[in-house]
Amino acid sequence: MSGQPVGSLPDVARLRPRQQMAMDCARCARPLGSGGRVWGEVRHLGLLFRLWVCAPECLPPVEGER
Ligand SMILES: [Zn+2]
Repeated sequence: MSGQPVGSLPDVARLRPRQQMAMDCARCARPLGSGGRVWGEVRHLGLLFRLWVCAPECLPPVEGER
């Protein structure tokens, strides 16, 4: 086993611009602020996007928010 399957990463086209620009978490859409870690890199429209997620893990979703 070598390398990570790209299929585990979300479709960049479905992410918000802020998530694509690594301003928000690519998984839970929270502002990353000072904390965050690289989730992985995905290619979209010929560009390479580096997705960031909360570190160490995403917080559980806020109640009442979908
Ligand atoms: Zn998150």
